[in-house]
Amino acid sequence: MSSKVAAFMEQVIAKNPGEKEFHQAVQEVVESLMPFLDKHPIYREHKVLERIVEPERLLMFRVPWVDDKGEIQVNRGYRIEMNSAIGPYKGGLRFHPTVNLGILKFLAFEQVFKNALTTLPMGGGKGGSDFDPKGKSDLEVMKFCQAFMSELFRHIGPNTDVPAGDIGVGGREIGYLFGQYKKLRNEFTGVLTGKGLKWGGSLIRPEATGYGAVYFAQEMLSTRGETLKDKVCLVSGSGNVSQYTVEKILDFGGKPVTLSDSTGYIYDEAGIDREKLKFAMDLKNVRRGRIKEYSDKYKTAVYTPVDSKLDYNPLWNHKAQCAFPSATQNEINGKDAENLMKNGVYVVSEGANMPSTPDAIKVYIDKKILYGPGKAANAGGVATSGLEMSQNSLRLSWPREEVDQRLHGIMKAIHAQCVEYGKDGNYINYVNGANIGGFVKVADSMIDQGVV
Ligand code: NAP
Repeated sequence: MSSKVAAFMEQVIAKNPGEKEFHQAVQEVVESLMPFLDKHPIYREHKVLERIVEPERLLMFRVPWVDDKGEIQVNRGYRIEMNSAIGPYKGGLRFHPTVNLGILKFLAFEQVFKNALTTLPMGGGKGGSDFDPKGKSDLEVMKFCQAFMSELFRHIGPNTDVPAGDIGVGGREIGYLFGQYKKLRNEFTGVLTGKGLKWGGSLIRPEATGYGAVYFAQEMLSTRGETLKDKVCLVSGSGNVSQYTVEKILDFGGKPVTLSDSTGYIYDEAGIDREKLKFAMDLKNVRRGRIKEYSDKYKTAVYTPVDSKLDYNPLWNHKAQCAFPSATQNEINGKDAENLMKNGVYVVSEGANMPSTPDAIKVYIDKKILYGPGKAANAGGVATSGLEMSQNSLRLSWPREEVDQRLHGIMKAIHAQCVEYGKDGNYINYVNGANIGGFVKVADSMIDQGVV
């Protein structure tokens, strides 16, 4: 770490103690930016870096609700309104027991750069709660969502802050949240994205993050004159992003072989085909079961439960060419990255946010593989949320092909920005590309708008 980065990080850590994921996300960006700032002193004069790491507004609130047994439960709700220089705050809500301020600040910070890369006018935000939807009845989930929105509604709006889904927040939760917002405000507006198709949602929004991560991999491969055809792909997670990643890999003729959840993973050497994917989607989205059931049904698959004693994840230790981490942050450590390289992986396209630790990223960059960081590779989700906002404002719905075409075009534009800002001789450093590309648009807008 350079002395300038170390000095800056010292201030960030002192001001935000204990928020290790936030420190990690900031450090990665600042390391990319320091050489760029040396060449462009205007950003230092305007203290853009000091301002951009400070959320514009932080909301924390009590969420009391009553469970099916009649007992009162209390969760904590959050919304981080990080940066509105280029548009209303935009970013998902995460419901997961691990949610805390540091995790949401890292996600909100990443979101600022990601949203800028999409070419659409969206600022960055993120929110959520330590509520765990797993094992809760539909009624309990509804009561929680209503309680959560009973506070959040006063801070959001179609021109202020437009939340969407993330881990633990899918179509069901967005429905309950939207219903409560509408009741409290007495207005029908595009205040949330990821809505149902019958009430303002956009076609392709559920598919967008996974599809986008695969389009991005395809763009990276095309720089070497290759395609995804016949490539073996490791995919983690089995939620929204993973499911549509698998679907798009199949469209491009690739062979996905893994899926996981927080209890373990399956490795299906024969490949996850469309019929098996349909089973996995029903298992996860309707029956809300565990991924182990996949291996009970398909004998070509082997199930491995999570072993917390291991210092690596065996999912990343299979022969393959591509990896699509799509579960959660820091799911690939340095040892996993070494295992990926040893097994022939040379494309990593991140569907999840910050799934690779700094040690893992160092391995990718040292080996000069095609590495698409989440900020760029998973921006298709928020980009299509942006398209949902446009359709809501126009009071129109675009056909599936049109939204998909726009998504594909946006992923190509994100890739082009990464190439523009990340070219390092013959190598494209997509980390630098995404960080600098995203920064310039936001930073210039902040300077234009004065010290606010
Ligand atoms: P999701 O539908 O809730 O699925 C999450 C998946 O990851 C589930 O299979 C879950 O397993 C697994 N998982 C979650 N936490 C885990 C942990 N600590 N250890 C192991 N597995 C874990 O969420 P999603 O929307 O697909 O989001 C996945 C990732 O993509 C997140 O990093 C999210 O921030 C990122 N992302 C999502 C979007 C979007 O549009 N949805 C956009 C950009 C980025 P269980 O079922 O056992 O919990």
